[in-house]
Amino acid sequence: MNLYEYQGKEIFARYGIPVPRGEVASSPEEARRIAEKLGTSVVLKAQVLAGGRGKAGGVKFADTPKEAARLAKDLLSMKLKGFKVEKVLVEQKLGIRREIYAGITIDRAEGKAVFMVSGEGGVDIEEVAERSPEKIFSRHVDSFVGFYPYMARELASGLGLDSESFKKVSDVLLKLYRVFSEKDAQLAEINPLVIAEEGVFAADAKIVIDEDALFRQDFEKKARGLPYVELDGSIGCIVNGAGLAMSTMDTLKHLGGEPANFLDIGGGAGSEVMREALLRVAAHPKVKVIFINILGGITRCDEIARGILAARQGIALPLVVRFRGTNEEEGIALLRDAGIGVERDMIAAAKLAIEKSKEAGR
Ligand code: GDP
Ligand code: MN
Repeated sequence: MNLYEYQGKEIFARYGIPVPRGEVASSPEEARRIAEKLGTSVVLKAQVLAGGRGKAGGVKFADTPKEAARLAKDLLSMKLKGFKVEKVLVEQKLGIRREIYAGITIDRAEGKAVFMVSGEGGVDIEEVAERSPEKIFSRHVDSFVGFYPYMARELASGLGLDSESFKKVSDVLLKLYRVFSEKDAQLAEINPLVIAEEGVFAADAKIVIDEDALFRQDFEKKARGLPYVELDGSIGCIVNGAGLAMSTMDTLKHLGGEPANFLDIGGGAGSEVMREALLRVAAHPKVKVIFINILGGITRCDEIARGILAARQGIALPLVVRFRGTNEEEGIALLRDAGIGVERDMIAAAKLAIEKSKEAGR
């Protein structure tokens, strides 16, 4: 499971890794307020689960709150690397002197963690590995032995830092290892770790959590690990359960519809899983209408409705919802208040979805 930059930075902050002051915004107005509160020039960063945002136009700078609002508006209407931008991180802009790379991942062949640092940060580290591998310093870390201050200093010693930055960077490396190990991460990366006028800061954060360890982590299970299949049609489908997935596909096909994809949120999904599922299905460019077909059992229709409402702002596509089962009435009422109709009959719902997909195709 990938974490967003702002989530990674929240974890870093808890572990004492310095991060720039800032907050996430979901609207231009919010971005303006955050910039005002920070009282400095700011950097606005699109929150999507992809790297290389800088090059793709997902990182912008603003000198005034007004400009921050305008740029946030641009970013929030963007699609970046296939993801709709829903949130923007607004942070104090740092006076960057140097950009360093620091990352820990798992070397499967060795069965150990491998810690890598480089004085050539900011850019794609694979590129550095290709072009000048001598500029990357690495060492294996045995989880039974652990990672100690002398190891951090040894790694940092190749970076050519002054003594003050050297101490700070070594300390960050030590804490980054703690994040990696305690969060059951497959990857914990800071690129760039910056030496700035204001000090040493993690200017970016990338954390990937091992999905097999999620049960012992305090993250809510998200839609990322769920069964997802892409097809060729134009109807995006969200269902719960493999059986319902099959019968939904069959019904659509039988009635002359073509599914674009389907995502199975499984049993007992909460609103957050539903929200993520909806955003994920909507991100597929072929989707013209989204068909949400839920049979309430352990899954509660009111939770599903809350997830739909939470995601709806970020989605411009028509929705067709069918609920049957646990808390059906509550779910229908919640959506009705928001102007979304709900079907109870699967055939009727499927027909409606097909109709809307054809309308959109014209
Ligand atoms: P990525 O491209 O998705 O990895 O996004 P990053 O968070 O790494 O940002 C890309 C680049 O933007 C960094 O390498 C920096 O050069 C630049 N950048 C990010 N934050 C700041 C900042 O506070 N001040 C300045 N001057 N540059 C920044
Ligand atoms: Mn980066």
